[in-house]
Amino acid sequence: MGLSSRTCRWITAAVAVGFLAGCGLNPSAGASVPPRRHNPVTPATTTTTTATAPVVVPIPARVFATGNAQLDALMPTLPSVLFEGAATVHFGWNPLDTCCHAGGYNPGPNEVWVGQSAFESAARLTYVAVHELGHSLQLHTARAAALTAAVAGAPVVRAGPWDDSEKVADCIAWVLSPAETAASGITYWRCPDPWRSQVRAALQ
Ligand SMILES: [Zn+2]
Repeated sequence: MGLSSRTCRWITAAVAVGFLAGCGLNPSAGASVPPRRHNPVTPATTTTTTATAPVVVPIPARVFATGNAQLDALMPTLPSVLFEGAATVHFGWNPLDTCCHAGGYNPGPNEVWVGQSAFESAARLTYVAVHELGHSLQLHTARAAALTAAVAGAPVVRAGPWDDSEKVADCIAWVLSPAETAASGITYWRCPDPWRSQVRAALQ
């Protein structure tokens, strides 16, 4: 998005060179033609352009090494709240699960696995990544109690011990990436209100 500092320095140098070259276009003007009193000061315009060059402010970047370049590129674009649980993200089938789910989350090692079938579309990849990171928020952060309470009273979406966590993880995906989640076609539920609003509030 932003220019790199190297590029910025190059542009600054190029503008400076251009300005100096412009000064040198009429080397003998001063000697052969007397300066006019109301001559437009064109060099000032060039100087102003140089002064208003955009300032590049370096932004600390989260760096990922999931094992897949597309996933590495996606991760830093996701909302920062998803990384509060500090889960490690891996590309591939979850080694602790029966093959082959698009995504998986292992609470013990706090690991997210994004499997090959998640890459069928960009939307599905985003949904799977957000959903699995959502599990880490529900199981590994101070938001846990509020997130679980936010889906209280909702219908069962996955019978068994993962029911609440699946509801929360999907609601997080519907709140943070609604378009991709809708397009993914593989959600547990649509997380309607009041639960979606309650999860949104728990993420504030
Ligand atoms: Zn899940």
